[in-house]
Amino acid sequence: MNFKIGLDLGSTAIKMVVLNGEEVVNRKHVPTAPGQEVRAQKLIDEALAELGISQNHIHGIVSTGYGKKLFMGANKHIDEITANALGLFKSNNGEACTIINIGGQDLKVLTLSDTGQVVDFKMNDKCAAGTGRFFELVARLLDTPIEDFEHLSRFAETELELNSTCVVFAESEIVSLLAKGESKDSIIKGLHSSVARRAAGLMGHMLLQGQGVIYLDGGPAQNKGLVEAMEDELLCEVKVLPYPQFTVAYGAALALDL
Ligand code: ADP
Repeated sequence: MNFKIGLDLGSTAIKMVVLNGEEVVNRKHVPTAPGQEVRAQKLIDEALAELGISQNHIHGIVSTGYGKKLFMGANKHIDEITANALGLFKSNNGEACTIINIGGQDLKVLTLSDTGQVVDFKMNDKCAAGTGRFFELVARLLDTPIEDFEHLSRFAETELELNSTCVVFAESEIVSLLAKGESKDSIIKGLHSSVARRAAGLMGHMLLQGQGVIYLDGGPAQNKGLVEAMEDELLCEVKVLPYPQFTVAYGAALALDL
């Protein structure tokens, strides 16, 4: 038994995976809130109880994400770009690829070489448009859970253009659309296209260089409506791993042995 833990203390959610060797044997997440260390430790305690093991069986813990230094129990911490690259490269059987990561408050694009090195990287963290926060805002405005966006976007008869490049203006744009009687479905479809355009814009020349297949990860990658909008925008297949919100935590755990 070679148990190790990866902890991704993100802006929106704390994600934890337990590995036995390289196999994920437990994963959990909880929203980010004050008291992150206690919340993260609770995830670990619950996982250990479910696995029937104690903290003594754990060889080490690696933390990553915005709050990585808040977890004092970590043996080491690494940046989230390295963790994302490690997790996805391993899952992609060690082949070159491009990763679009949408987190709670940023949008990143990473290009990995066939040795897993990050050879190109871009990030948009100046504005919430194109991030998980944008989805949360629209969910509140439409009084609809994010989990329903995928399903609802499929019912859209029309796709509305969301043109605002800033979340503050997008909020008024959506309120106006609702006031005009536009459907939630069409607004959500428009949101997916707007986020896909942002990601494609950020990719720019990286897309032209075309490193391997393209993956979408981070919490919003669970929304297949968004994935389809990305494919329409990029005109190629966009892959999503099972549990895309956990790739970074997985990569952190793998980093223990490096
Ligand atoms: P961070 O690492 O910055 O905390 P995550 O990768 O955990 O970010 O992504 C958080 C975002 O994921 C949330 O802001 C939300 O928009 C989105 N999200 C979470 N759960 C789901 C879901 N089931 N379906 C679609 N989107 C989701």
